[in-house]
Amino acid sequence: MSETPKKLTTASGRPVWDNQNSVTAGKRGPILLQDYILHEKMAHFNRERIPERVVHAKGSGAYGRFMVTNDITPYTRAKIFAEVGKETRLFLRFSTVGGEKGSADTERDPRGFAVKFYTEDGNWDVVGNNTPVFFVKDPMKFGDFIHTQKRDPKTNCKSPTMMWDYWSLNPESLHQVVILFSDRGTPYGYRHLNGYGSHTFSFINKDNERFWVKFHFKTLQGIKNFTDAEATEMKGKDADFAQRDLVASIEAGDFPRWMLKVQVMPEKDAETYHINPFDLTKVWPHADYPLIDVGVLELNEVPRNYHAHVEQSAFAPAHVVDGIGYSPDRMLQGRIPSYPDAHRYRLGVNYEKLPVNRCPFAINNYQRDGAMAFDDNGGDSPNYYPNSFGGPEVDKTVGEPPMAVFGLCERYDRNAEGEDDHYSQPGSLFRLMSQVDQQHTIGNIVGAMKGISGPRREQIIMRQLCHFFRADVKLGMGVAQGLDVQIDMRQFMPAAMESL
Ligand code: NDP
Repeated sequence: MSETPKKLTTASGRPVWDNQNSVTAGKRGPILLQDYILHEKMAHFNRERIPERVVHAKGSGAYGRFMVTNDITPYTRAKIFAEVGKETRLFLRFSTVGGEKGSADTERDPRGFAVKFYTEDGNWDVVGNNTPVFFVKDPMKFGDFIHTQKRDPKTNCKSPTMMWDYWSLNPESLHQVVILFSDRGTPYGYRHLNGYGSHTFSFINKDNERFWVKFHFKTLQGIKNFTDAEATEMKGKDADFAQRDLVASIEAGDFPRWMLKVQVMPEKDAETYHINPFDLTKVWPHADYPLIDVGVLELNEVPRNYHAHVEQSAFAPAHVVDGIGYSPDRMLQGRIPSYPDAHRYRLGVNYEKLPVNRCPFAINNYQRDGAMAFDDNGGDSPNYYPNSFGGPEVDKTVGEPPMAVFGLCERYDRNAEGEDDHYSQPGSLFRLMSQVDQQHTIGNIVGAMKGISGPRREQIIMRQLCHFFRADVKLGMGVAQGLDVQIDMRQFMPAAMESL
């Protein structure tokens, strides 16, 4: 590099003439209080960390593009899907969920799959996971659930007792538990997993018709997982395996790709469909709502600076664009306010202005000031509405059709009759697995449940076994045998015995 190096300066731009030696009183004397260059260096260093995300703290991210391959304009007028061949820039952040920012990439955990599409109608964020469902279906339960995945308040260790106590008391978690303990709970890095928007969202077309929609990103690298033993070994060998793998593949020009597919449900179907289509613990079976190809997502650029782009990236399911809307999914409803709230706490009120989060197209509003208003802050344009000075105006063409709601305000039991089948879908999933996958799933569950300890151990195990049996007898028997629990099936489930 023959370029002349840039001049070193303080943060305020004062050139620095010595970056190695503090100012001292005499050759061997103490440091002077006036050595501001030293103070600034140390003070900034002390403040290098920002609060890590409460969940999804360990992550990796990359920029890329999305290209439309199939026409879905009959369902949505979102500009990103306007024509086949259209390209949109994006940023994608993968993550684990329960661990801290330095935790191992190969922990058994769901993987976050959060995409920010920079569209001309604003940023559209799909803030999903590598699983199509979630552990709970009401946001009221989220904090309690996450506590069980974090550290024991006394020992400060992860606690299988807390985890299984919660899951066994909360049968709606079973579907996600079966996915988590299959080998998809330990994916081989981030390139070989599917992403799912998980929630039900809505599409709105140019005729202002609403459809319900689910988003699926299918890996074009093929599904590849670690076995439990391999994942454990990799924790010791390379805790940053997934980060390293993603960066290496992109830098080598081997750009990872996913096919975006959607399931689309006409608005009226929701009233009669046999599954609550807004229940985040359930999928829509493909036979009922087949996958429709939409386009290809590619990652092709490693950000030049991890903190600026990956750590400061902030996604929110609230960020939809014209042609895409929300649904009554309770978990989505809970996440709409809570994600931006988390970012305001973590990054500050102007987090949307950070380069990775900023919509590259026009942003015009009357929001002003606040900590770190580091752009022009609206300059001298009006900061109130309405005004007579040419400030930004609303666009009446982007309104949504009204959404019908029925019933009385109440804290309705999320698991009331008709909403309480926690077993059919996990059972179907287990039965579609290969023999080997079934064996691994049972082995992974047994290994984890062996960690349950304390006076409630037997109670927790028996309660959880009942859930496994109700999903699938072979699953229940496999786990019971692995845990050396003797079960008299003739008493326990006579009908199920006959079908064995
Ligand atoms: P299908 O046979 O049409 O689809 C089965 C799906 O299961 C495929 O999408 C497959 O993903 C996925 N799958 C396979 N192994 C696992 C695993 N260990 N963990 C998570 N997903 C897995 O069946 P249905 O649509 O009728 O659904 C049957 C069950 O499949 C559901 O109860 C659900 O548990 C699971 N599933 C369904 C999805 C849906 O949206 N309908 C999505 C994902 C899972 P792939 O093709 O990428 O291998």
